[in-house]
Amino acid sequence: MSVQILWFRNDLRTKDNHALSTAVASGKPVIAIYLLCTKQWQQHHLAPIQADLILRRLAQLQDDLASLNIPLLVHQLDSFKQVPQSLVELCEQYQAADVHCHYQYELNEQRRDEAVEQILQAQQTSFHQYHGECVMKPGTVLTRTGESFKVFTPFRKAWLSGLTEAEFSPLATPPAVDKHLLPASFVELLESKPLLRCDYPLVDSSHWACDDKQIIQQLRDFSASKAADYKTARDFPAQAGTSKLSAYLALGMLSPRQCLARLYLDHPRCLEAQEGGAFTWLSEIVWREFYRHLIAANPRLCKGQAYIAWTEAVNWQHDEQLLKAWQEGRTGYPIVDAAMLQLKQTGWMHNRLRMIVASFLTKDLLVSWREGERWFMQHLIDGDFASNNGGWQWAASTGTDAQPYFRIFNPTTQAQRFDPNGDFVRYWLPELAEVPGKHVHQPHTWAEKNATSVNYPMPIVDHAIQRKLALSLFEQAKSQAQ
Ligand code: FAD
Repeated sequence: MSVQILWFRNDLRTKDNHALSTAVASGKPVIAIYLLCTKQWQQHHLAPIQADLILRRLAQLQDDLASLNIPLLVHQLDSFKQVPQSLVELCEQYQAADVHCHYQYELNEQRRDEAVEQILQAQQTSFHQYHGECVMKPGTVLTRTGESFKVFTPFRKAWLSGLTEAEFSPLATPPAVDKHLLPASFVELLESKPLLRCDYPLVDSSHWACDDKQIIQQLRDFSASKAADYKTARDFPAQAGTSKLSAYLALGMLSPRQCLARLYLDHPRCLEAQEGGAFTWLSEIVWREFYRHLIAANPRLCKGQAYIAWTEAVNWQHDEQLLKAWQEGRTGYPIVDAAMLQLKQTGWMHNRLRMIVASFLTKDLLVSWREGERWFMQHLIDGDFASNNGGWQWAASTGTDAQPYFRIFNPTTQAQRFDPNGDFVRYWLPELAEVPGKHVHQPHTWAEKNATSVNYPMPIVDHAIQRKLALSLFEQAKSQAQ
């Protein structure tokens, strides 16, 4: 009986997994495979903490799949180039007639899959791909003239109008494969559970859950008790007002349809009302989709290009010292420094802070968004090419922000507004523990007034001056393009 290969990539889950459900529904033996490409991880700047979470999740998946009588193999390769041949060998070894997986929308991944499809076709093996990373298939949410959307709000409107009931019923974990069908080699694999090996640098991710029970409970708790207040609470980094599910969504440990279904169960009116906390949270899931649709429609974004073509001419500065100060949280702007420490020490940063530090790097330090994009990928537990590239380009005004380039965040007023008592800053910068209330956002001014001193760097740049410089860099670039 021919075998089905289930190829795991960015869909590390057994629930709402189209590829898994279809492979199992075939009624044939299924073997799962994960091809771990360390050189590719390096090229994509995969954070060691995210790599650790992937490995932990694979170990968990191996157990979950074993209860479905599906062995999971993890093969370490160098780069994507080796993937097609490796799959051919696996198909020959296990006499597989079909390979099932979900689409990925990044350019390197698409090219890898084209090569896989070609080589498998030549071997008479069918390659089946399903859409599972997004609720709406990229390429299906379009303007009336059939183009992809350039800004978010009309995208969301069209996305919402295409939403059907099917999206609120994610697939359950399929039943186990009949053990009597399994070849002897599968039974051996299931009993021996081959070890997961990987020589990529790792950083301990154990404070992030990796089993379904905890992750789904986190989604339920957020939906039941925090979603209603999300609209106001989400902007304050000292509060736990957001879901902290991004790491799981980024690796496909949780699907956006699971999120939608849970939200709709607890807040059935949120779609109708199109306002309130639950709807605002749903909009964030739509942002995630927007950026995926954007890279699928504009593969050049995966080559490091700016979305707005004329902004390629912005003459970003390459000041290593300023960049290093930003990376290490030594800019003299407490909100920026606290945020950068949060990233380095936990692998996660609050969304409001991501916007503040991204604006600061690009509009105050005048350093290219590409440097920030890379640094984030190297450190984020939720590193996700589409959302990260989208977020950076939005903040740098080279992307899809509906406001033009003169949106420049003032880091001090942002801090006073979103960390009004200074609690977030004081938590990450204990050297400022004595500075009371919101004065912590301008510690040297406070120290001067109180005839004291603080052991904290002076601001490395003057925001008012840098703001003008940023505007002139953009104006020069724009005039060159005309
Ligand atoms: P919640 O507020 O609970 O939102 C729920 C989910 O919606 C998130 O888990 C995430 O999947 C999605 N989401 C929320 N906001 C956004 C957004 N603005 N864009 C896209 N998706 C969103 N998100 C990533 O998942 N990976 C990244 O690499 C990433 N890089 C970013 C870089 C910059 C410069 C900026 C400004 C934003 C970036 N974001 C990224 C988006 C956002 O900051 C995070 O998704 C969010 O902070 C995760 O926390 P949460 O799970 O508590 O989010």
